[in-house]
Amino acid sequence: MKIPEEKLFKQSLEDAYHRGEFTLHYQPQIKLPSHSLSGFEVLLRWHSAQYGNVSPERFIPLLETSGSIDKVGKWIITKACTFAQALIEAGGNHLCVWVNVSPHQLVNGNIVEHIKRAISDAQIFPWQFGIEITENSPISFTSNSLHNLRRLRNLGIKIALDDFGTGYSSLAYLQKLPIHMLKIDKAFVDSLAFNEKQQNFVHLIIKLAHNFGLKVIAEGVETETQVEWLSYCHCDYIQGYIFSRPIPIDEALRLAVCRKVDITKIS
Ligand code: C2E
Ligand code: CA
Ligand code: CA
Repeated sequence: MKIPEEKLFKQSLEDAYHRGEFTLHYQPQIKLPSHSLSGFEVLLRWHSAQYGNVSPERFIPLLETSGSIDKVGKWIITKACTFAQALIEAGGNHLCVWVNVSPHQLVNGNIVEHIKRAISDAQIFPWQFGIEITENSPISFTSNSLHNLRRLRNLGIKIALDDFGTGYSSLAYLQKLPIHMLKIDKAFVDSLAFNEKQQNFVHLIIKLAHNFGLKVIAEGVETETQVEWLSYCHCDYIQGYIFSRPIPIDEALRLAVCRKVDITKIS
């Protein structure tokens, strides 16, 4: 009997970890107004022998439904802490390494223990490690998740609310969540090109976050006009193709050594 293509794909994904087909890329984050490097977001990549490069948007939901995200997620956390250690050696102990944590990992109690151990094994400072939790899943806001987030925050780990403006959080949650930073979704950054109303809206989000004592990072920044508006609004950090795509570890370390990111030189 012929095995359906989707089943073969899922099987290949389940084997990818043991076959060493996963790698990590690192996307620089830039502090405003200095344009200095402030950290990196860690992004998972799957290069399949059979299917080539597969988008995380396609394979991460499958890892979540199969439960493998716990195992792969732990590997990512360990590698991210090793990267942060390498950053210290490159003179960047002020740089924060941000890992995307799936809501499924967050409800599982032992993620806190794993992060604690990974930080201690790599001998990095807690402020060098951050997690990004998505606003797109209601699971991010269950009592179990909140409990684990508070424990992580008490350890000194940074927490960002990703995809802000697209999902389940409300103003009431902004007060309740133990977060340090809001990550404005790319859709809002894109909308800056449309009209004044959208520009004012983004300005308002930044002011609101600052009033709550939160830092703000904008993602998916691609144009100088967007950088100008975000700078005008006192957005704290930006990230996007205008500075750099996600890059392999050796390039990321080289960037950490030279520190200053010049938007006229990096595309
Ligand atoms: P995300 O966390 O919102 O990550 C941002 C996505 O936007 C990344 O796509 C990044 O490569 C892309 N991006 C960054 N700057 C720009 C830009 O200027 N323009 C455009 N067009 N895109 C930009 P990627 O790597 O394909 O990841 C997609 C999603 O997959 C992520 O969205 C995240 O939800 C998930 N993901 C990726 N890596 C991980 C991981 O290690 N763990 C978990 N749980 N999820 C991950
Ligand atoms: Ca993210
Ligand atoms: Ca995002």
